[in-house]
Amino acid sequence: MGTPFQAKSYEFTQYTSAQNWIGGKWVDAQNTEKLEVINPRFGKSMAQVCMSGADDVAKAVAAAKEALPAWQDMPIRERGEVFYNLRQLMHDNIEELTWLVSHENGKTYDESKAEVLKAIECAEYGCALPNIAAAPQLEVSRGVECRIVYEPVGVVAGVTPFNFPIMVPLWMLPQALVGGNAFILKPSEQVPLSCIRLAEMLQEAGLPDGIFNIVNGGQETVEALCDDEDIDALAFVGSTRVAKIVYGRAAQTGKRVLCLGGAKNHLLVVPDADLELTAANVMASFTGCAGQRCMAASVMVAVGEVDHIIDEIKNHAQRVETGKDMGAIVNEASVERITGYIDAAEAQGAKVLVDGRNAKGGPEGYWVGPTLLDNVSPDMPAAKEEIFGPVLSIVRVKNLDEAIELENSSNYGNASAVYTTSGDVAKEVMNRVSAGMCGVNIGVPVPREPFGFGGWNDSKFGHGNITGWDGYRFWTRPRKISSKWALQKDTTWMS
Ligand code: NAD
Repeated sequence: MGTPFQAKSYEFTQYTSAQNWIGGKWVDAQNTEKLEVINPRFGKSMAQVCMSGADDVAKAVAAAKEALPAWQDMPIRERGEVFYNLRQLMHDNIEELTWLVSHENGKTYDESKAEVLKAIECAEYGCALPNIAAAPQLEVSRGVECRIVYEPVGVVAGVTPFNFPIMVPLWMLPQALVGGNAFILKPSEQVPLSCIRLAEMLQEAGLPDGIFNIVNGGQETVEALCDDEDIDALAFVGSTRVAKIVYGRAAQTGKRVLCLGGAKNHLLVVPDADLELTAANVMASFTGCAGQRCMAASVMVAVGEVDHIIDEIKNHAQRVETGKDMGAIVNEASVERITGYIDAAEAQGAKVLVDGRNAKGGPEGYWVGPTLLDNVSPDMPAAKEEIFGPVLSIVRVKNLDEAIELENSSNYGNASAVYTTSGDVAKEVMNRVSAGMCGVNIGVPVPREPFGFGGWNDSKFGHGNITGWDGYRFWTRPRKISSKWALQKDTTWMS
């Protein structure tokens, strides 16, 4: 295989620059402008990434269109075979992929390994598709049979965020490729490096050249993907601000579009919650990946007297060693945004129980430690807006109704969870919160494969989920076939 990443630890390591992957080859973008790819632990460039425009997108589309007929002619079982091979290659190279994710994104080794394992789980869904994608068939009246065939959409595209460099692309690829499409990926320009290895592994796994392409870049590249008339479907994962723009723009060309956006996740904690489980889980939810997860806890809704639990979360947070237990923040602007929210909340009367503003995980790089804000009022930006850092805003309410009302007042609706030992409380919360992914005593309620991932409200634009069966349906279109055999001579309204 091509270009292995050599790092075996956090030690700063340079890597090859990210070009475009078109028709199974690395090629330069038309534009010679390049962006530095920064290792957030060191705040130092480890590679460069090219910035593509409409011409580069057109080249990827042409390669995809050329490769598509032969790929679509292959039986689904043969297309699925690629993901068996990819799964094995990812396992065989898991250390390398783990360090690559860690170096470009800043998350810890353990978090990076968990991401790669979750990406492998997504690839497994691709292995399963040939066994589960059989479509319905029914004799709808005597001698007349209706059946469905899931056909590919054509040339499709995916745009992904910085926080899961390899997992989010794999939310899309198994369903889209096994479904018979050709794919153009636009990774986040902040983390384009894991996808270099992904492209090379897909090729080694047997994927024909041209069926998976990468165009690197930023806003201009995404706009070109949205505007290209020959791209038939586009999925996006990123912030709500951009998700809304992309949803509107891509739909202008009649594409099928699904855009997953940002989040403000509420964890409701009631007095009967198990102390140890709740404290450890809430802590893990808001500090995992340094809070840079769309499923991270952001608001803890303290229902009544739960001070003993808050004290225990505080104890946990104070023990965290930034840099060892918790990774870096992706860039300097994000550090400023996160600390800006903490400064504002403090100025507006919130109490800073644990302060991560001056935490350092190393002599260089971008860091914020776990931060616990108490007495945050619902109208403060820290309670309403996505901070996307290791900050938990505690909002105190008197009862469960008030807690649910607070959760429902959020524009977002990605995740929500309750910590309780009462089945009644759990059921009440699960029935009434306005969120697409809900947890009982689970702070990061990710619907694992085969369940579909996707939020509600401003956390998602478009229908269905990105993973699981909904993902397969998004990347395919059902052909409905009605047949009557020649012996059936009668004439009806269906004739
Ligand atoms: P982002 O929206 O800044 O970028 C996402 C992608 O959009 C990148 O590939 C980027 O190049 C591109 N982009 C940026 N600005 C653009 C513009 N103006 N027009 C067109 N394209 C543009 O998001 P990010 O900072 O990379 O990722 C963090 C965000 O993603 C958070 O809001 C997080 O909640 C969200 N996220 C959501 C999910 C989910 O499943 N709902 C999953 C992961 C991350």
